[in-house]
Amino acid sequence: MSAALLDRILPSDSGSDPADLQNILGLMQETKPLNDEATAFIRNAYFFGKEAHKGQLRRSGEPYFTHCVEVATVLAEMKLDSVTVSAALLHDVIEDTGYTVKDVAKAFNEELANLVDGVTKLSDMKFKSEEDKQAVNFRKMLLSVADDIRVIIIKFADRLHNMRTLEHLPAVKQRRIARETRDVYAPLAHRLGMHRIKSEMEDLVFKILEPKVSKDLEKLISKRQDFFDNYVLKFLEPVKERLDEANIDTVFKSRFKSYYSIHRKMKDQNRPFEDVYDIYAVRAIVDKVEDCYSVLGLIHSFYTPIQERFKDFIAQPKANGYQSIHTTVVGPDSLPVEVQVRTKEMDQTAEEGVAAHWQYKERGTKTTQDDIDQQVNWLRNLVDILQTEDRTTSHQFMDLLKIDLYKDEIFVYTPKGEVRILPLGATPLDFAFDVHSQVGLHCIGAKVNGRIKPLNSELTSGDKVEIITSDSQRPNSSWLKFVKTSKAKSNIRKHIKGQEFEQSLELGKEILDKELRKLGKAKEWKRLKDPHLKLKFESEDKLIASIGSGHRTVSSILSKFFPEHYTSHRKEKTESQLTDSFFRRARRSSKGVLIHGIDNMMISFGKCCNPIPGDPIIGFITRGRGITVHQKDCETVGTNLVEKERIIDVEWSSSRTQRFLVRLKILAQERKHLARDVTEIFSSYDINIDTLTMKVDGDVVTGLFVIEVEGVKQLERIKSKLLASDGVISVDRE
Ligand code: MN
Repeated sequence: MSAALLDRILPSDSGSDPADLQNILGLMQETKPLNDEATAFIRNAYFFGKEAHKGQLRRSGEPYFTHCVEVATVLAEMKLDSVTVSAALLHDVIEDTGYTVKDVAKAFNEELANLVDGVTKLSDMKFKSEEDKQAVNFRKMLLSVADDIRVIIIKFADRLHNMRTLEHLPAVKQRRIARETRDVYAPLAHRLGMHRIKSEMEDLVFKILEPKVSKDLEKLISKRQDFFDNYVLKFLEPVKERLDEANIDTVFKSRFKSYYSIHRKMKDQNRPFEDVYDIYAVRAIVDKVEDCYSVLGLIHSFYTPIQERFKDFIAQPKANGYQSIHTTVVGPDSLPVEVQVRTKEMDQTAEEGVAAHWQYKERGTKTTQDDIDQQVNWLRNLVDILQTEDRTTSHQFMDLLKIDLYKDEIFVYTPKGEVRILPLGATPLDFAFDVHSQVGLHCIGAKVNGRIKPLNSELTSGDKVEIITSDSQRPNSSWLKFVKTSKAKSNIRKHIKGQEFEQSLELGKEILDKELRKLGKAKEWKRLKDPHLKLKFESEDKLIASIGSGHRTVSSILSKFFPEHYTSHRKEKTESQLTDSFFRRARRSSKGVLIHGIDNMMISFGKCCNPIPGDPIIGFITRGRGITVHQKDCETVGTNLVEKERIIDVEWSSSRTQRFLVRLKILAQERKHLARDVTEIFSSYDINIDTLTMKVDGDVVTGLFVIEVEGVKQLERIKSKLLASDGVISVDRE
């Protein structure tokens, strides 16, 4: 510890601790005493932070350090360990004062410095769009958790206190922070089981985003307070009597649910306040698990339970670790009453979630360590997905998260009887990927409760699932249509993308080699250093693959390096130039693009999606470049374009009976008569094949077909017929 500095700032007499520090130390000792070392550590952090923030003020006019103390107090209430509470006292030191991570590490230790550093990193995030912002936020949070989940817990406490003191900010900023809390922090707190923090955050958000509604509700609730308090006394009286006789220590707590959750119930059930019943809950907290069931039995002996409302989360805990028994019974005057029964430890977990596990960890039990591992595993899985899906757009990422965050869950069993938790609607394939990505990738079938079921059938709770695999099986894009878990989706996507990229790369190499040989430039190309940089590609492989996938033509690339060969108009057509001419030809089959109200505009077509007649399209007015036409669902028609350009309705000018050229890429497992079968499918639809190439590589065949179709609908029919054919892996329009 940097003795000189601390000597200077520490008061000589520890008896004169300020009240707010005493409060923190007191809260931390409510369940067990702190040793001298831990106490000294927290005191040092307190005085270090106070000194560091000296002279800084919050918007409210209070000293800045009061914020740090409040954040630490939230964590002390949650009974987190002394290092976490100390880190909370110092959480803004690196960001807002002259001290560095190294200074903090030197004065305290690496563990604390890492926590402070993690919180600081979470704080300096810069965003572009709303959607981006959420995703980036999530991503950063999750990635930081991979090191230490306490970073997130501190960040939650920080956000909670900022939400509590939001009234000092301008209204616009208040609403922005409230929305971010609603979209990013509350869902993640929920997923981590931190219920107390989540509901307080939601109530604060509710107050800011819907001030009038929340104020009205507050009034309604306070009017009902007395009624419910009296009612609960009446309800519990006979139960308490019997519990005393049986000598079962039980603490009853009763309270209204959070404002926000009541508001949501009113909205969901479309009922006024008076008609919503489950707004008030009674909680019974006992010492032992056995007592939970005794108390439950006793309550049921006095009041009739409503069957479908009974849930035993003790026998089957939720994925976030929540355990409790829920029952709703018919109380006096025929009013329904919800009762939750749980042990003290379960109650702590229900309120604080993963943070509670952390506290127990200090006590060093094996089972709670497993609990933490499970929590952290869930996050690690997400982090894995984030790191492998480099192309995932923010939007897709949010979708992935929503699946895991909001869907209900089912419980299914492995042949060995282990329980797996999957989202509602999950299929055997989701189960297979949940077991292991290799099991998923090679899954050909499943036995559900002993019977063979299709891969896309829906599993239900209690199913016993056995997966059948085969080495020759490969995932295909149709799987994406029915899998539910993000793990399965990202694994399948990754696999398909990898396959496509490999093939594009190989084809691109071939085209490039051929063209280079023709120009006599093979050696010169090899001597080029990082040719991809000139054309703004991430790597040379990606540049070459873009030729294979048809997104760029080889001439458009080589003309940048060897312009002398591309000035003449009398150039020979290479294979890749055929791609260009194909698109030109395809587009000529239509009379062009119709644009409402504007004549003689320059038209160009998005290289990203290559629209052809029949595709739903959309246009952008580009300054100086006329109109660019994209497919309506083209991925690059994203946020960036919308800002710079103006969207315009366009349509193909063509008659119905006209035929269009389409290029199809078919991937299939090599087998006898494959080419014959494919051609037969085309001819069964009376389709002309314009050109075709087929290439065999190992046991995979790549076929490129240019065919004439009547429109998108016919094309879809042909595609599904092809996919149904033996050995066909994928059929994609190029
Ligand atoms: Mn802060």
